[in-house]
Amino acid sequence: MLRIAVVGSGPSGVYTAQSLVEQSAADAVRVDVLDRLPCPYGLVRYGVAPDHEKIKSLQNNLRSVLEDGRIRFLGHVEVGPGGVPAEVLRQLYHAVVYCVGAKSDRHLGIPGEELPGSFSATEFVSWYSAHPDSDPDAFVLGARSAVVIGAGNVAVDVARMLARGADELRPTDVPQSALGALAVSRVREVHMAARRGPSQARFTTKELRELGSLPGADATVVVDELARDPDFVDPAALPAPVRRNVAVLRGWVGRPVRPGARRLNLRFYLRPVEILERDGRVGAVRFERTAPDGSGGVLGTGTYEDIEAHLVLRAVGYLGVPPQGLPFDPATGTVPHAAGRVLRAGKPSPGEYVAGWIKRGPTGVIGTNRPCAKETVASLLADAPLLAGRTVVAEPLDALGELGLRPVTWQGWLAIERAEAELGRSLGRRSVKIPDWDGLLAAGHDGS
Ligand code: NAP
Repeated sequence: MLRIAVVGSGPSGVYTAQSLVEQSAADAVRVDVLDRLPCPYGLVRYGVAPDHEKIKSLQNNLRSVLEDGRIRFLGHVEVGPGGVPAEVLRQLYHAVVYCVGAKSDRHLGIPGEELPGSFSATEFVSWYSAHPDSDPDAFVLGARSAVVIGAGNVAVDVARMLARGADELRPTDVPQSALGALAVSRVREVHMAARRGPSQARFTTKELRELGSLPGADATVVVDELARDPDFVDPAALPAPVRRNVAVLRGWVGRPVRPGARRLNLRFYLRPVEILERDGRVGAVRFERTAPDGSGGVLGTGTYEDIEAHLVLRAVGYLGVPPQGLPFDPATGTVPHAAGRVLRAGKPSPGEYVAGWIKRGPTGVIGTNRPCAKETVASLLADAPLLAGRTVVAEPLDALGELGLRPVTWQGWLAIERAEAELGRSLGRRSVKIPDWDGLLAAGHDGS
């Protein structure tokens, strides 16, 4: 029997565990899914926006995998400093699969980026998702105009969350403190700025369309900016998903803004060059106007536009961080691999594997992780004869205990869920997430 550790319980980790048990004979594998957080589900819990209930409900599928008798969830176990060192983990299991995602975010590298009021979208997402590492900054406090930089689905998520009213968010599991801050938000204008044209934007049509049908906000576009994009003017040759985006944006041209509605302005061909300071905080973003270069890129035009902003969120992509003890390519933020086998000095390292964003970079939707996990698991199972020859300890939990680690078990996680349902009831809301380490660990250890 192979003992396998999967590090990370987001979609890629859970799909890896699922593939492992599905592709093996009944008693051939035992899988421990480790997570540094006391809670499972990774970005499905801490990344998918609270108002996207259908995507959130994927948790039910992930849950049924983690309840398989051959899979064990061990929360609050960090691999690396302060937790279980990677080399120790390797001695406890026949194989380790790293599914640790892309924890950090890309920077713009422009002056003013570090001013108070300028954040990564990841920080904002963590806040409204009740991530226990999140900064309690109220983000929207005092802001009337917000600029979101980027044109991917994360930019759309954060722009939509800023444009929604508290009444729309109260039925979700958004933490009480974020709900309180959003309830008194004075943000009236949200600008989402893309450096390229509408036909190069990375958001998907369903997400874009949603921006045009918010109860309290109206989406606007600037006709001249759309018209700069030759593919927008003549979209016939574009792939179908991009054509659909173009059709949605076309439908917004000239739409009136309802009196009193928030404005959600989608802007194109604006490259951020500086975040301008006012009274010690962000005051505006300076953009250079760009123009299409004829091959999908853009050129600067030497003309500039400042957009007032009291809150700036950069949503320009996630970035992987090096997992302890593994080779790493800082340019792509990924671990070098061949079909999921970690490559050391260009050679496969049996027993070490990767899946998900740390393998292929931060792209694709949740479902993309399924084939990705399957490929990795096929490599691992092909290596099984080699791996089975290694000696490992009988019970990794004992070794983790000797390191002073006290995992939150599946029972512990169920206790956290019950505590969140109770918190919701006490606030007259549905289940509400516990936002802090102490609260999560108190409930989780109580139930473990
Ligand atoms: P993304 O899709 O890669 O989009 C990043 C955006 O940032 C692009 O518009 C990019 O523009 C822009 N950008 C990059 N560097 C820039 C710079 N220096 N200056 C200005 N703009 C810059 O990344 P993401 O939005 O973080 O999403 C990550 C993945 O998660 C995606 O696969 C996404 O679909 C997925 N996701 C899905 C959902 C959903 O299904 N609802 C929700 C959230 C995330 P260029 O194109 O010009 O480089």
